[in-house]
Amino acid sequence: DRAELALLRDAPALTLDGIRIRLDANIELPEEAIAAMQAGADGIGLFRSEFLFMGRRDLPSEDEQYQAYASVVKTMAGRPVTIRTLDLGADKTLDGDVTVATNPALGLRAIRYCLANPELFATQLRALLRASMHGHVRILIPMISHMHEVKATKQAIEAACQSLEADGVPFARNISLGAMVEIPAMAIAVEPFAEALDFLSIGTNDLIQYTLAIDRGDSDVADLYDPMHPAVLRLIAHTINSAERAGKPVAVCGEMAGDSRVTRMLLGLGLTEFSMHPQQMLDVKKEVRQAHSNALRVKVASALNRAERIDLATLSN
Ligand code: PEP
Ligand code: MG
Repeated sequence: DRAELALLRDAPALTLDGIRIRLDANIELPEEAIAAMQAGADGIGLFRSEFLFMGRRDLPSEDEQYQAYASVVKTMAGRPVTIRTLDLGADKTLDGDVTVATNPALGLRAIRYCLANPELFATQLRALLRASMHGHVRILIPMISHMHEVKATKQAIEAACQSLEADGVPFARNISLGAMVEIPAMAIAVEPFAEALDFLSIGTNDLIQYTLAIDRGDSDVADLYDPMHPAVLRLIAHTINSAERAGKPVAVCGEMAGDSRVTRMLLGLGLTEFSMHPQQMLDVKKEVRQAHSNALRVKVASALNRAERIDLATLSN
C-alpha cells in the first residue's frame, strides 16, 4: 500500500544479495526534475530534450535551452543528469514540419537529423556544455547504429567546445558521452561502441519496435509488441554483458525499466541501472529489495542460451 511505499522512498535499492541498483528518472520537461527528487531518484537517466522543441513554430535559442538544462542540473544538486540530444522524427515531429519521410521510423531522425543539421546540433551542444557548469551533465545520443556517427558526434562536441572557448564562455571539459542502444544492429555489434563511449543506455521502446518489426504506436499489431521475446532479451543481455566487459555503465531507459512486473527479469539479465518515470520508482525499488540478483542471473542465462521464452512466474522467490 501507499504508506509502505512511502517508507521505501529513503530505503536503499539493494538486492537481497547486496547489489546496489541505481534508480534514475526519465523526464520530458524541466519541471519534472522536482518529482524525480521527491521520488528519491539517484539522478536523471533520460531527459528527452525534444519536448523543448515541440508544440512551437520556432526553435529554442541556445540561451533558452541552457536555462532549461541548467534548471534541471541545479534541481538535481550534483546527481548525474543525462540529457539526450534531440530525438526528432518518427513519433516526434516539429510543428509545421511538412517533410514526410517514406518511412519516418527508418528515416532522418534523431542523431541522423542532428548530423544533417549541424547548426541546430551545435546550438544544443553549446547549451549542454554551458549547463554542465552547474553540476554533473552527461550527453546521450539517440539512434546510433554506426561508429562513424559516434566519431562525427565527438567532432561536433569538440567544435562546440572550441566555439565556447573562442567566445570566452565557461563550460566543463570532459563531459561523458553515451549512446542509446535502440537499433538491433547496435546491440548485436555493441563491443566497439562500449569501448568508444563512456556509457550506454538501452532504449527498449525502439529496440523492441525494430527487432520485431512492430510499429510501437500501431494498435493493430500491439499484441505482437512483446518485450519478453527471446530475441529482445538476448539483445539486452548481450549489451549488458559487453558493457560489463568493457567496464562501462549500462542502463535501461525504455518503458520496461519502470514496469515492476519485469524488474526481476531485468535483474536476471544483469541490469544494475534502471531509468523510469518518477511515479514508478517505489514499485520497482520494492521488487529490487525482494530479489536475489545472482540467483536470477543463473536462471535467466540458462533459458536464454536455449532461446526459450521465460515465464515470469518462474522468476518469483
Ligand atoms: C526508447 O526508445 O526506449 C526510449 C527510451 O526512447 P523514446 O521512447 O523517447 O524513443
Ligand atoms: Mg527511442
